[in-house]
Amino acid sequence: MTRKPSEAGENDAPGPRSLAENSIASDTARNDRVETMLAALEDRGDLDLQALAELARGITGCARGFVAIIEGPQTIVINAGNGGTRVLNTDETLCCDVVRKGEPVEYRDLRRESHLAGHPSLNSGLNYYAGIPLRDADGEIIASLCVQDFAARPDGMESGTHAMLCHLGVIASRVLITRNHTTWLRDFLDIASDWIWEHDPVHGVTFLPTQVNTPARTCRSADGSDTVEYEASPELLALLASHDPTQPLRDRRYQTTYRDQVHSISVTARARFGRDGTFVGYRGICRDVTVEEESRRQMEYLARHDPMTGLANRIGFHSAVDAAFADWQETGDPATLLLLDLDNFKIINDTYGHAAGDELLKVVAGRLRACVSAEATIGRLGGDEFAILDPALRRDLAIEECATSLVRALSEPVHFDGRNVSCGVSIGVALLPRDGGTPDQLLGNADLALYAAKAEGRGRYKVFQPPMRERIENLDRLRRGVLRARGDGALEIGFREIRSLCDNTLIGAQAVPVWTRPDGSRRVLDQLHEDLGSSREALDVGNGLLEDAVSLAKDWHRLAGRHVRLRVALSPAQLADPGLPFRVRSVLVRQGFPSVSLQLDLGAGMLGALTQDMLTNLAQLRSDGVHVGLTGYGNGGTPPALLLAAGVSRVGLNLSAAAVPGAEAPLRLAQALARFALDLGVCVTAEGITSRAEERTLALAGCDEYLLAPSAPLKSQAAFIRLLARDDKNDQPLSQAFAG
Ligand code: GH3
Ligand code: MG
Repeated sequence: MTRKPSEAGENDAPGPRSLAENSIASDTARNDRVETMLAALEDRGDLDLQALAELARGITGCARGFVAIIEGPQTIVINAGNGGTRVLNTDETLCCDVVRKGEPVEYRDLRRESHLAGHPSLNSGLNYYAGIPLRDADGEIIASLCVQDFAARPDGMESGTHAMLCHLGVIASRVLITRNHTTWLRDFLDIASDWIWEHDPVHGVTFLPTQVNTPARTCRSADGSDTVEYEASPELLALLASHDPTQPLRDRRYQTTYRDQVHSISVTARARFGRDGTFVGYRGICRDVTVEEESRRQMEYLARHDPMTGLANRIGFHSAVDAAFADWQETGDPATLLLLDLDNFKIINDTYGHAAGDELLKVVAGRLRACVSAEATIGRLGGDEFAILDPALRRDLAIEECATSLVRALSEPVHFDGRNVSCGVSIGVALLPRDGGTPDQLLGNADLALYAAKAEGRGRYKVFQPPMRERIENLDRLRRGVLRARGDGALEIGFREIRSLCDNTLIGAQAVPVWTRPDGSRRVLDQLHEDLGSSREALDVGNGLLEDAVSLAKDWHRLAGRHVRLRVALSPAQLADPGLPFRVRSVLVRQGFPSVSLQLDLGAGMLGALTQDMLTNLAQLRSDGVHVGLTGYGNGGTPPALLLAAGVSRVGLNLSAAAVPGAEAPLRLAQALARFALDLGVCVTAEGITSRAEERTLALAGCDEYLLAPSAPLKSQAAFIRLLARDDKNDQPLSQAFAG
């Protein structure tokens, strides 16, 4: 509300005396009148400073009454009644004397006050002045309640009147304190993001601070002042209308638009009830929580999404699986879960850098979106692992088509930084509800199917079959058994002879782990490394077997008087270990075993997953004189470039693996493979020969040695040493060896 400043002021000539003032004839009558007026004003809540100044004027019978509020060099003078407000220099007012003295001041005749000679107050013709100090909440004098009259009053103010004036001063101080608090509150509300409001059921929201709602209209009062009215948002009114006033209203949120923007508002309120218990409206606090809501939304999004691809993360995806189960329980609707893991993704990172890997992951996310229905939830569960839950995939044919298109789409190269980068994907599929009665079972079975897809050579999908679980459980039993056996000394090494295809000379032996089970039965662990995977335990077991094998073979060359080769399989975990070359070197030095007599064999599956670090390890081993071999050559694809990159000097050609089911001439195929390796400068060991005809054919094809078939009994360390000592190349005809 604005008010036009009046012309009247502390030093101005007074207006006509009011009727009220004239009617105060005696002190008693005046006291009564003052008390009545005060009571009436307090009741109406109109106890403002003008009214108090008017009362001061009335009880003292002075021509003027006013409140002077000192604000540093300026003083605001609020005159009695409708006398208006004006601003003066503090030095030119008499109220600064009140402040200075800190107590009531009375100048009975201003002209006799020597220190006021020349003071501007004297120019107005007013010769009497009395002022009562007004204090703030801390007791500081911040203003004075003053009266002035034309006639000097040599006898001074009568004591009863003085007491009443002091009483008015106390009331005026209270008004000032309240006014300060109101100003403070207004200032606070103007800058705070919280605001208070008041409401009644008839008029709606009756009080709102200016910053919240757009002004609805400006009203001009009869006295010429303007009042701006504000309109509450319809959303707040609707919320209040629908709320039961007997219930708490705490942090209820709604959205509304003001200043052309959508804001989120939190409302907390208390219902107001009249003395008779009737509901009279609400009083409450609103808080603009737009920023808070936005960051909450962001946090919620980040908690459930992968920031790089925008897909659901593990938590978000698992919630979708939970929801699919809830849907199925309610409606019987099935769904299909696909777990995807990129093939050999580490090679992309190692070869082209992490940024290329990230780029590929983003492209993969886009391709997944393009392959599935709009209803599907797609997630990145971590690393290069993705998942799809699609309720639209219900029939076998649709599942097959979708999985095939995913395998195809993800094998397409991605153009990155001027190069084509590509990897494949393996997929495990499980159907809800057929393959799992709970989310954990479903996810677990899809994982088993994925494991099977990887094990079968990657770049394919597998739908879960119950025997997969059995296989995994067997593997798990094996893993635990082997680890225990290693601790108990029940994991030993047997030797499989390597002989010359030319004259049957004993050339060396392959070290094979043998597990003696608690029941005394022995199990040859040809596939141990594949079975143990790339766990920490696999690394320990692999290193232990290497050390044991070299230690057993350390005297072979001395006994035979020549190099006798030892072949030991290397696990993926060992090959990935940066400490491998150092470990091998120190084992050889410790055992006094010549490095050139050691051949470390890679499994055929490891060739496709070689990283730069692994290649570096292999190069180090080779430069130390160790030979790098490869078993299972011809078993699936063996990219020639990788064969050369790994520095493989000898491959083991497995005849049974080279045999294609239904093909008429597996031997011809084996011969072709052997010749191809020889053309690359790689020697070939024939593995698994079972007849003289095979032996002759492979010798003709260029194989120089053979390894006894897995079915042949392994030699113990002592038996192998006996063989070496006899140098028995002619003792055991080849035919016997084949017979096992
Ligand atoms: P496999 O064929 O057996 O799946 O082997 P892989 O090489 O794909 O490796 P694997 O799935 O076991 O491991 C995934 C790798 O993904 C491990 C890590 O180096 C890499 N990786 C994990 N998170 C990120 C990422 O955010 N960005 C990039 N660029 N690489 C990641
Ligand atoms: Mg992978």
